[in-house]
Amino acid sequence: MFTVGELLRRPPVSLPETATIRQVAVELTKNRVGLAVLTAADRKPVAVVSERDVLRAVSQNLDLDGPALSIANKPITVLDTDPVVLAADKMRRHNIRHVVVVNRGGDLVGVLSVRDICFERAILLELATADVPTAP
Ligand code: AMP
Repeated sequence: MFTVGELLRRPPVSLPETATIRQVAVELTKNRVGLAVLTAADRKPVAVVSERDVLRAVSQNLDLDGPALSIANKPITVLDTDPVVLAADKMRRHNIRHVVVVNRGGDLVGVLSVRDICFERAILLELATADVPTAP
């Protein structure tokens, strides 16, 4: 069974929780990813902002130099030791394309996107056959 940690390919895009919407947009664009994690001084994840949230902010004419926290959501997380099927189940149930990955200490380890899952044939096979572990 694949674990979430095995699929993480690069460090997460994270910004301090004081970041502005514009700063998040710049980092998402620069790193070509869809989700940024806002972190506290101790690097624990506080909130997430996806490209969807930035688009919504633009369409609602929000001040892009205002706090990213105002458009952010509380992170939905998995452990790096959790099976990938559990991460996929959380994405499906919450209708999101990313889960934040933390370790047992609650530290930010990465972000798993639906793309990371979709392009691995072995994982798709596992998803097709596995019983999904019950997630909280
Ligand atoms: P996405 O489909 O992942 O781009 O995100 C769609 C919406 O779900 C946005 O409002 C995101 O802020 C939110 N979202 C995405 N991933 C997470 C996550 N891991 N935890 C909480 N909210 C999320």
